[in-house]
Amino acid sequence: MAREAAADDRVSIGQRLAHVRERIERAAEACGRDPTGVRLVAISKTQPPERIREAYVAGQRAFGENYAQELASKAEALADMSGLEWHFVGHLQTNKAKIVAKYAHVVHSLDSAVLGRELGKRVAREGRTRPLPVLVEVNVEGEPQKGGVAPGELAELLAAVRAESTLQLRGLMTVPPAEGLAVARRVFEAVLTLRNLHGGAALMPELSFGMTADLEVAIACGATIVRVGVGVFGPRGR
Ligand SMILES: *Cc1c(COP(=O)(O)O)cnc(C)c1O
Repeated sequence: MAREAAADDRVSIGQRLAHVRERIERAAEACGRDPTGVRLVAISKTQPPERIREAYVAGQRAFGENYAQELASKAEALADMSGLEWHFVGHLQTNKAKIVAKYAHVVHSLDSAVLGRELGKRVAREGRTRPLPVLVEVNVEGEPQKGGVAPGELAELLAAVRAESTLQLRGLMTVPPAEGLAVARRVFEAVLTLRNLHGGAALMPELSFGMTADLEVAIACGATIVRVGVGVFGPRGR
């Protein structure tokens, strides 16, 4: 499938998924990595449950949502689908932690100690048998409109997360500015450096970065989870 076809409505989700998986495989092979070490999370924000079902039928199991309420309604609508896994990747407000604690299997966007404590408490109240896997979002470029902790405050936040017995620290996540591949690479490399400074892969095995436009660069920089929306579902309307 050609790149242009990604903007074509007649292309099925199954075909798009196959194309994204092929991109992941090629990118991993190009840098000598095992493609199975890169997990695809299909970002389903704004997509109706029927389109998520279509992706599920094509073999996709991990889906990502940005808004707590949208996560809750889709998780309810798709509760019949076994093995489906919800990743929360959006900015999380403390007053929505309860919803995320109930429905998410992984949280990528933890960015404050207050939120970590609230999420930890809510997970405990949900009576989950296992700790909730979480990643800490880093705002490398200090973009004020975006979530994420500043690199200088990372150590403190990581300590706060590790103090929550109901949360399991898994790694770091970032969303680079949409300023092209060179900037994305610089941001991914900065996150990789931060991971190595703060305990390395033993403490934080997961690196969540790479979207439709930059997943090859992300994989070359060590991504273990790529979050792809448009590439899987086609252009978003909202
Ligand atoms: C929307 C979104 C993505 C996916 O971006 P695409 O360009 O659609 O691949 C990934 N991560 C986050 C946090 C997002 O909000």
